[in-house]
Amino acid sequence: MDKRQALKKHFGYTTFRQGQEGLIDQILSGRDVLGIMPTGGGKSICYQLPALLSEGTAIVVSPLISLMKDQVDGLLENGVPSTYINSSLSPEELSRREEAILEGRCKLVYVAPERLDTRDFLAIASRIRISLVAVDEAHCISQWGHDFRPSYKEIPRFIRKLPQRPPVAAFTATATRFVKEEIKSLLELDSPYEVATGFDRPNLFYKVAKPQNKLRYVADYVEGQHPDGAGIIFCATRKAVESLAKELQKKGHSVEAYHAGFESEQRKAVQENFMFDRTRIIVATNAFGMGIDKPDVRFVIHYNMPKNMEAYYQEAGRAGRDGGDSECILLYSPADIVKQKLIIANNAEMGATDRDDLLRGNLQTLVNHCHTQECLRASILGYFGESQEVENCGRCGNCLDESEQVDMTTEAQKILSCIYRTNQRYGAGTIIKVLRGSKDKRIQDLGLDGQSTYGIMADRSEGLIKEIIMHLIAQGFVQMAGGAYPTLALSQASRQLLKGEARFHLRQERLDAAEPGKKGKPRRSREDGSLSEAASGLYAHLVSIRKKLAEERQLPAYLVF
Ligand code: ADP
Ligand code: MG
Ligand code: ZN
Repeated sequence: MDKRQALKKHFGYTTFRQGQEGLIDQILSGRDVLGIMPTGGGKSICYQLPALLSEGTAIVVSPLISLMKDQVDGLLENGVPSTYINSSLSPEELSRREEAILEGRCKLVYVAPERLDTRDFLAIASRIRISLVAVDEAHCISQWGHDFRPSYKEIPRFIRKLPQRPPVAAFTATATRFVKEEIKSLLELDSPYEVATGFDRPNLFYKVAKPQNKLRYVADYVEGQHPDGAGIIFCATRKAVESLAKELQKKGHSVEAYHAGFESEQRKAVQENFMFDRTRIIVATNAFGMGIDKPDVRFVIHYNMPKNMEAYYQEAGRAGRDGGDSECILLYSPADIVKQKLIIANNAEMGATDRDDLLRGNLQTLVNHCHTQECLRASILGYFGESQEVENCGRCGNCLDESEQVDMTTEAQKILSCIYRTNQRYGAGTIIKVLRGSKDKRIQDLGLDGQSTYGIMADRSEGLIKEIIMHLIAQGFVQMAGGAYPTLALSQASRQLLKGEARFHLRQERLDAAEPGKKGKPRRSREDGSLSEAASGLYAHLVSIRKKLAEERQLPAYLVF
């Protein structure tokens, strides 16, 4: 049987997708390979088919127990003899399967990485003919990837102990050059054949939304704009997952929560309810990312900023694996960013670490993505080192931008001047008072009422100035010093803004919300969420973080922003 017949017979497909055929041919010729393909690109077939067509048994290393079971179930349905071995099996079941493997009855054996370098498994592996070792989600071996698994280090150890080295085939959807090089060297791939297919997912519509009220945005989205279809909403913390899920349930939606804090039984049930369309929407931490193979997920919402661009791409990529139109929405809140930056600044102050630098870089990359005016698809692909041919993709929020941007460069310049003229020694509260010409006694005591920037924004509301400051911090035009008093200071980028080489924009809807009643727009009621979530919650937010940080480190709790 040749590979095309096998593709038809066992998988029901008549043509290969981009990259598959080359990888399959090279594995069959005995060469190591590294296949980099986006989520949903069809990596599994690249090792399943060679396994079928070769003599012996393929060992497949896969990071998740649930993933193994799904894959093996699928293979068995397609008439491919295969099995898996992991800690979920009873001892009797385990020895039954080991026997089947020893008798050569399995074309593929899925194994958890921590089992590879055990005496039992090595004993079995050295007594059978191994056609290839396939490593799925190979980026898990890299500490710098987004899913580091120490147990992946067992893989090269295992391969070295085999009586005969089989070809090694590694697969991942993570394409940064650094992670790629790490995979090759840590897995000890021998001059591998490499394929990296395009990262564009044409059926995904990317959008960054900056709503005043994220909860209401999501509620409207799931019942208004997107009344049906399965979806995943990712939150940063377990607490956020539970509270958002509860809010949506209260509104009568079919929603379940998922995070690593639940018992495994419950997690499994939630996952299955979603797979079989008994639950429409899952609110989850990124623990729900890998292993979810539901093809018809119609939307993925990031309620909080993801960890980094790779994590974002992977998580958003859970949408539309069937090729159908799907939406990926990233919710952006400057208050979240300010909070994260403050935490990083405080950590750094307690002893800067590489990790802090890494976090800072990752966060800024995503913030820049949220603020870019160019095509969002180009921004994502650019991160992975790919350029896009067309200028307007027509399938992202920026290429189809409806919302109006207001140029607020002058306002931003006034704020920067004030920070500078007051010697970069004060927090946002004081700066706002100076700009608005406050009669506050403290301002007078400090002599700030004689400042040249005193009162130059008297016609602007406190809410708007706060809003602009938060955007300035988020975009890196203003720095926050860590420590007990987070004071504001200029950054390298501030100069560009002051010289007019960079511009600063705010979306019309945020402006309306921060300054209700301005520009003749009807004043919306508070309940309507019109006061910026960010502006109104900012102080409470920061005060509570500072309190916590102060408690943890026994710093004096000066609650000054
Ligand atoms: P990945 O592991 O790269 O995320 P999968 O291997 O799970 O992707 O494949 C994603 C989907 O694409 C699966 O439903 C699979 O059956 C399908 N698929 C893979 N190869 C082909 C092909 N040549 N033609 C059509 N569909 C394919
Ligand atoms: Mg896969
Ligand atoms: Zn676009």
